Amino acid sequence: MNLKSASIGIFAAAGVLFSTLAGGAQTVCAQEETVIIYRLYNRNTGEHFYTANKSEKNQLVAIGWTYEGIGWYGPTSGDPVYRVYNPNAAGGDHYYTANQAERDYLVNQGWKPDYNGAPVFYSGGDIPLYVAYNPNAQSGSHNYTTADQEQQYLLSIGWTHGAKAWNVLRVGEEVAQPPKSMYTVDGILIVNKKYSLPADYAPGENPVAKEHLLRLIGDMKAQGMNISDRYSGYRSYAYQGQLYRNYCAQYGQAQADTFSARPGYSEHQTGLAFDLTGRNGELLESPREAQWLLDHAAEYGFIVRYQNGKEHITGYIAEPWHLRYVGEAAKDIATSGLTLEEYLGVEGGGY
Ligand SMILES: [Zn+2]
Repeated sequence: MNLKSASIGIFAAAGVLFSTLAGGAQTVCAQEETVIIYRLYNRNTGEHFYTANKSEKNQLVAIGWTYEGIGWYGPTSGDPVYRVYNPNAAGGDHYYTANQAERDYLVNQGWKPDYNGAPVFYSGGDIPLYVAYNPNAQSGSHNYTTADQEQQYLLSIGWTHGAKAWNVLRVGEEVAQPPKSMYTVDGILIVNKKYSLPADYAPGENPVAKEHLLRLIGDMKAQGMNISDRYSGYRSYAYQGQLYRNYCAQYGQAQADTFSARPGYSEHQTGLAFDLTGRNGELLESPREAQWLLDHAAEYGFIVRYQNGKEHITGYIAEPWHLRYVGEAAKDIATSGLTLEEYLGVEGGGY
């Protein structure tokens, strides 16, 4: 974050202005006037929302939106920025633009202008604000940020565009969020290094998932594959803690984190994840079987959760043996070639 340097720049400029006008006699702070742009997030739709209107912010928080902090500080006047709303997006989607022709085009396409077409805030200043677009999202597909790191992360998980939207005066300030736990999107429970499970969540092995798994194993055997009946399924929070601590002691934390989950962060705690083993008792990674799982696991409601080249999104090295039961959605996810994070538009990566 370059909040510090940005603030210093503004105050230095104000200082010069003051000394020119008043000769440095008395100190009156000539701080630039700014408008606070609040940043909100809807966990159910994945939509980010930006407003300069404090009561609008409070109303959204009252109905369950998360207040994430100050998105940025904008000027009190300048080039107008408009907000339009897509009434046809599944969970609602807002788009912001400083380009009047673009706004008019979208309105022609059926989008609704917010604020009766009046500006929601203004562009001005030296700090670029970036927009990114998530082509896989049903709703909430636009994100605006001054943080290069956030923008680069979104682009790395499949968001597109990434152009500069307009300029702002100062970067914002995030507020600390409570840990994200038991987070579900489209009925799918998300567990990765960003979304955890409480210590007392102990559902045991999911019977529906197990039934499908046994059918999958049976079919692999029938085709003469190298697969055993032994698998590692449900793990309690405490047991995962034991495993993780052992790996940590053996390999060090940095390496342990690439292949073993910390307690509360393991998909195995959901009762919906299973590690398959070959006839030799080792985790299954022989090429023929691994490919069969990529091609057919979805027919049984499973996805191969941790794949090659996706480590920066899933947070783990490739694990051809680790299946996650997601039910109906599995086929669509497998066909898309996306990770679960990309497919549902949720955050992944490291802790
Ligand atoms: Zn596993």
